[in-house]
Amino acid sequence: MPKIIDGKTISAQIKEELKEKVAAMKKGGTSVCLAVIQVGNDPASSVYVNNKKKACAYVGIDSLSYELPENTAQEELLQLIGELNDRKDVNGILVQLPLPGHIDEDAVIRSIDPKKDVDGFHPQSVGALCIGQKGFVSCTPAGIIQLLKRSGIEIAGKECVIIGRSNIVGKPMALLLLKENGTVTVCHSKTKDLKEITRRADILVVAIGKPKMITREYVKAGAVVIDVGIHRNENNKLCGDVDYDDVAPVCSAITPVPGGVGPMTIAMLMNNCVESITLNS
Ligand code: NDP
Repeated sequence: MPKIIDGKTISAQIKEELKEKVAAMKKGGTSVCLAVIQVGNDPASSVYVNNKKKACAYVGIDSLSYELPENTAQEELLQLIGELNDRKDVNGILVQLPLPGHIDEDAVIRSIDPKKDVDGFHPQSVGALCIGQKGFVSCTPAGIIQLLKRSGIEIAGKECVIIGRSNIVGKPMALLLLKENGTVTVCHSKTKDLKEITRRADILVVAIGKPKMITREYVKAGAVVIDVGIHRNENNKLCGDVDYDDVAPVCSAITPVPGGVGPMTIAMLMNNCVESITLNS
């Protein structure tokens, strides 16, 4: 049977390490503060925002919460971000996505000071990652690198295949695996012979958004499989983009859903908040 890559335990370890760091920083007179903005009351977004606030409280990061109505004008949101950009006591700004349709998400992301861009979505953060400079890294792919490293999985020299090229998962994932000296291929909906390519992978990262699409025909025997997808199945149970029961017996290590990549995203957000102090000093 494969090694189960335990995101719950690894994320708990990371949060414990951060808690100690934050306590030490507080003793030295430095505190960390994250401002979280939610526009509208989409139930899924509310759950994510609450989990982020809870994680802040656990690690010892102060959080400021801004819950704006659905019909908030873009200008009003940009003005709030501007004020938070100027505040010395705010280290990170997070705008929960997706935003209501009348607001231009790109304009909002661009308005966040890159020094406070703890989600790592600002073009400057992405550019810095691309050319190997210091900057915030998108939390989900950063979490996947931690999962691999802390599970003792070597990346250097490995064939890494990513399915999905989104700005928040696939593309930064490719850059991070490349930084770790993997040989990286990115697949997407226009890729021909997908199975042929994915079967080359020593490390296969799946971020498609299609429940259980990846079955064992896509996977080389002994591969490491990282499942980013998160869905509710017909029985209201969580499942990923990978058909876990079908794939697990053929791979050497795999992330479960839930309890794999999911918990790492918030842990890495906390990490980015703490790093905001060192990145900007
Ligand atoms: P997007 O919808 O933004 O991107 C999906 C990608 O998959 C696109 O690049 C698309 O290709 C590609 N794709 C779609 N269908 C196929 C196909 N049949 N064959 C090959 N490639 C295909 O999704 P995200 O990257 O935002 O998220 C992916 C999944 O991960 C979702 O289930 C999401 O809920 C989950 N997620 C989980 C997180 C966590 O913390 N665990 C965080 C973020 C996301 P193309 O570009 O050509 O359209």
